[in-house]
This record gives sequence, structure tokens and C-alpha cells, in this order.
Amino acid sequence: MVSRVIPVDPFDLVVFGGTGDLARRKILPGLYRRYLAGQIPETSRIVGAARGEMDDAGFRSFVADALGEFLPGSTRDGETVGKFLAHLHYVPVDAKGEGGWPDLARLVRHDVVQAFYFSVAPALFGDLAERLHRFGIAGPEARIVVEKPFGRDLESARALNATLAEHFHESQIYRIDHYLGKETVQNLMAVRFANILFEPLWNARHVDHVQITVAETVGVGGRGAYYDKSGAMRDMVQNHLMQLLCLIAMEPPYRFDPDAVRDEKLKVIHALQPVPAEDIVRGQYRGSARKGPGGEPSYVEDAENPASRTESYIAMKVQIANWRWKGTPFYLRTGKKLRARASEIAIVFKEVPHSIFGDEEGWRENVLSIRLQPNEGMTLSVMIKEPGPGGMRLTEVPLDMSFAEALGEDGSDIPDAYERLIMDVIRGNQTLFMRGDEVEAAWAWTDPIIAGWEARGDRPKGYDPGSSGPEDALMLLHRDGRRWREIRE
Ligand code: NAP
Repeated sequence: MVSRVIPVDPFDLVVFGGTGDLARRKILPGLYRRYLAGQIPETSRIVGAARGEMDDAGFRSFVADALGEFLPGSTRDGETVGKFLAHLHYVPVDAKGEGGWPDLARLVRHDVVQAFYFSVAPALFGDLAERLHRFGIAGPEARIVVEKPFGRDLESARALNATLAEHFHESQIYRIDHYLGKETVQNLMAVRFANILFEPLWNARHVDHVQITVAETVGVGGRGAYYDKSGAMRDMVQNHLMQLLCLIAMEPPYRFDPDAVRDEKLKVIHALQPVPAEDIVRGQYRGSARKGPGGEPSYVEDAENPASRTESYIAMKVQIANWRWKGTPFYLRTGKKLRARASEIAIVFKEVPHSIFGDEEGWRENVLSIRLQPNEGMTLSVMIKEPGPGGMRLTEVPLDMSFAEALGEDGSDIPDAYERLIMDVIRGNQTLFMRGDEVEAAWAWTDPIIAGWEARGDRPKGYDPGSSGPEDALMLLHRDGRRWREIRE
């Protein structure tokens, strides 16, 4: 089956921070891939904007280099790249200055879809929003895309929301959480709400627990000073893991409509219980024993802060106080320098009420595993009889629901999360973007948890690079008679 390309209206997209790391690695290559898919209408313009002095030709060659670095050669023939580059322009502007803005005003049209991607530090959002209005650039339907981090606590998130609200209506603001743009995440909603099979089981009566894991192999080297002010709770749990939890836990929305979906997610966040200290394990990776060349630095070395108490790992047991989930814990964990780069949501179902096969060795619970990376896809493990004449012995087989295979493709056509989200902005579909009240509610739950460990003066536990995290995290589940799923690619 060939994936359908839904056309979009002609647009002008301005990428503030168009020469930054995110634009180079994700936004611009993503736009090129959408061009290949036929989704960039001929009259559309993509405008890079940053302080650096450059003309259109300079920006086009910058983007050509980025495509060369981040996309496979097979997707880049010279003629196609040239046609794509013809859509690109560049205007030097300083978010805090006055120069360049009239040039931008001349370039950006009012009779096409307008989108402004704020791929710059959040401290500049207010300046950009104010100038887009003062210089008459943004029309009443203009769309604003903002990146994480959206604040570092409830107060700063409220201030950011208020700053944007001075110039834009909530229906114009697209807060990106790229986890929501992943194919699997959307498929999770399809599997839940387009099939009768799962919904009757999707509750505390049948689900023993849920595990959400986002494991990375990289450390924080290179951006240690930035990360040290944040930590895993702010950098990953408050946004990405929270969003995944919401999609698992939410009630069926009455319609697949942006506000209907986001209303249901918000109710889940409101139902999250405070997390007691004994249900949280924070960790910091150690260095490798071997120092010098080939040796790996510890977290505090990467962060250049020997006294740092910031966590590069966190595991927690989260309870949702509502009828559907009361009694089913959600175990969340995420960390750096772990044994594999793997993100998975696992719905672990309860045991059958009575086993007619006796205490079969090898018996396992049914698990619905939703993998976000690598190899996006879903598997449902079921027990069957071991084939052969060996009697009624049970064995586990995975029912594979991987999309690439289901679609008869090799997966290379599945758009990257950024591509999908940018096209949703152009279409004006906010379903996969966080609403302001959702972000604030998430911080309102997060803040007291962080305040708790700060008041207690808790130190993170050490863990070895390449491990699955601190020992105490294993105990968090052992204590409840459960165990973490293996972190593997
Ligand atoms: P970056 O590499 O530091 O790039 C920043 C960009 O902003 C550059 O193009 C810079 O160009 C421009 N800029 C800086 N000050 C400016 C000003 N006063 N006026 C106009 N342009 C200005 O940052 P990044 O990593 O791309 O991140 C951009 C945003 O995305 C940040 O909010 C970050 O938190 C978020 N984010 C990034 C990633 C990622 O993977 N990189 C992931 C998630 C979220 P000039 O210096 O020439 O002005």
C-alpha cells in the first residue's frame, strides 16, 4: 500500500533560528522530505531568520550541506535538491533588534498560510511575537510553533503562556512535543479507539501495570551546563513521558478533534497523584574506570559541576486516581548512558484468574509492547501451545503489528516526527500539540516532586554507563513483585 499524501495549501514558513542545530538536523531535512513527497506547494516559501549575515544563496548552500549531512544520498539528486532550494530565502534579523524586520515584512505574504517556527531560546519568544505584530508581519490566522523547554516550572510556563497570549490566540499556538509526532504514538490511538478488542481490557481490572521507558545511550557531554539546570524530570518526564502516559490513560475522546483529545489528556494530568519520596529513584552516571583516552567521563565531569545533584536518570511509580486506573501503577523511567537506545511503552496484563495448565514453567503475562524507537511498531505477546508432541507446554509468541510490514514497505516512507508535525501546523491541526493548560497542569504536578527532593537534599544514586540504571530502580519494582522489562534495541 502506498501512503497517501494529503495536499496542503501554499504557505510561508519562517524559521527563526534557521541556522541553529535543530533547524539543520530536523526542520530543514524534514521539509525536504515533505518536498519529495509532493507536499510543498510550488509557491511556498521557507525563510530562514537569524542574526548571522547571509543572503539567500548563502542560506541555500548552508541547507544543501545540512541535507548532505543528515539525509541518505539516495534521496538527494542534484536537480530535486536544486528545486527545493529555490523555495528558500534568508533574512538577517535580531529578535531583540529593529533591523531586518521590514525586509521580513516585505517577504512574508498575507494571502497564504503563515507559520512562524520559534527555533530559538524561549527567552526570545516575547520579542519575536511582539515584532511580528508591530511590523505587521503576522496576520490574524498566523501560526506560531514553539519548542521545548516550555518553562522550567509552573511559574515560568505561565509567564511564557502569558507572553504568547499577548499577541496570539491559543488556537494559533503549536507547542511541539516531537514524541507526539511519532507514527507509533498515533497508532496507539488508532489501536485503542478503532478496535473493540482492547478497550474492554484497558483498565485496572485487567492491566496489572504499565511501564514507560525512554532510554538513551548518550551522555550530556557538550550540553552539560544546560542540562545540569534541568535534569531528567524536567527534560523528559514533565513533557515526553507525561504525554505518552496521557495517551495510554485517557478516556476515549468523543471525536478525534484537537480540543476533545486534549481535554481528555488534561483530565489524566489532573488525576495524577503526588509521588512520595519512596516511589522515586534518581541516578547520575559514573565515569568508566579507565581514565584518559577512551575513558568515559562521569555526569559531574560532563556537567562541569562536581557538586551537582541533578539526575541523569529517574524512575518513578505514578498512580492515577480515577475509576479506570485506581490500583494500576504506571512505572516511568528515563536516563542517559544506559545500555541501549530504546523507548517502549509496555501494557502488562494480569494473569489469567486460574491456570488450567497448572504452574507451567515459562508462563508469561500478555504484554502489549509499543516501541517508539528504534524499529517503531507494536507487538502483543500471547501464550500458545509449544508446537510438537511434547504435551501441553506453553510458549510465548509475539503477534507483530509493525507498521512497515503491515504497509508492505520498508519503513523509509514513514515520516519523521518533525515532518508530520510541521505539516500539521500548515494544515492547522493542533491535535498533536500541547495546549497551554496541559503544560501548566504538567508543571503543577512536577513542581512539588522536585521541591520535595530539593528540600530533603537527596543525592542521586550512582550507576555505571551501559547499565540499566541504579540498583534502587530495580527494587522499586521488586518491592511490588514486578520487574522492569529489559532495555534492548
Ligand atoms: P542553537 O543551535 O543554539 O541555534 C539557535 C539559533 O537561534 C541560531 O540560528 C541563532 O543564530 C539564532 N539566534 C540566537 N539568538 C538570536 C536572536 N537574538 N535573534 C535571532 N536569532 C537568534 O539552538 P538549537 O539547538 O537549534 O535550539 C533551538 C530551540 O529548539 C531551543 O529553544 C531549544 O531548546 C529547542 N530544542 C532544540 C533541540 C535540538 O535537538 N537542538 C531539541 C529540542 C528542542 P544567530 O546566532 O546567527 O542569531
